[in-house]
Amino acid sequence: MVKKIAGTIVTILLLMLCACGTGPNEGDLSLISTQQEIEIGDSLSQELDAELNLINNAAVVDYVDYVGQSIVSVCERSEITYYFKVVQDDTTINAFALPGGWIYIYTGLLRRLEDESELAGVLAHEISHVVARHSAEQLTQIYGYSILVSVLLGSNPGFWEELMANLLGSAGILHFSRQNEFEADSLGTYYEYLADYDPREGMLEVLEFLQELGGTSSLLGELFSTHPPASDRIAAVQRQLENFDLSDSLMVNRDRFRDMINHLGGPLEKYKK
Ligand code: ZN
Repeated sequence: MVKKIAGTIVTILLLMLCACGTGPNEGDLSLISTQQEIEIGDSLSQELDAELNLINNAAVVDYVDYVGQSIVSVCERSEITYYFKVVQDDTTINAFALPGGWIYIYTGLLRRLEDESELAGVLAHEISHVVARHSAEQLTQIYGYSILVSVLLGSNPGFWEELMANLLGSAGILHFSRQNEFEADSLGTYYEYLADYDPREGMLEVLEFLQELGGTSSLLGELFSTHPPASDRIAAVQRQLENFDLSDSLMVNRDRFRDMINHLGGPLEKYKK
């Protein structure tokens, strides 16, 4: 399928993607390397997996992985291996990414989505945080390069506990800046489109869901951080979509998504049209 996008937007996106592909701060020795980022993510995911109630049902896990990998296949940073995990927790409406490519989605969000394009939108947003190295930047800013390296060398064993607390806490490393969130929405929308998903049904409807919830619930996490406001994020994605050739053949895939959700007990209330 040929993607037609207005010339100026192509230029802007290419500039953005080039920057992401090589890391936004290439040449900045104070930023951890990709290999270091992966080592940190690997350790964190092992700690986290022991804390969280992860779903093993193959019908669910394989499906989420399939949708995630379809986005990965069109995104930058191909040196990263992405792992997708589903957390059994119907009371938490959230998804998040660890540095280095570990992405988690809670059943409280998964069961409130309507179709596969919305799932693709959520995963594309989280993948984009990894592609743009937002966590790596934030980790380096908070802890400093030398502390992170000492941790990776094993000379700072107490650090993982602190990092986990920080990760899960309200001032945690997963609270990205306003600019980071806009960038994850924009890149994610573009990736959805490149992967043949309909971002009108996907990214846009996920953000409208956020707006419906009002951004006030304590159940909302990284994905639905209240800064920037949902209305601004929706407006930005709508402006971006004006430049896309959005045919009706783009994928939504409601039926097979619903089949998968039935393995979890069906959709949860609040998001049924
Ligand atoms: Zn985000």
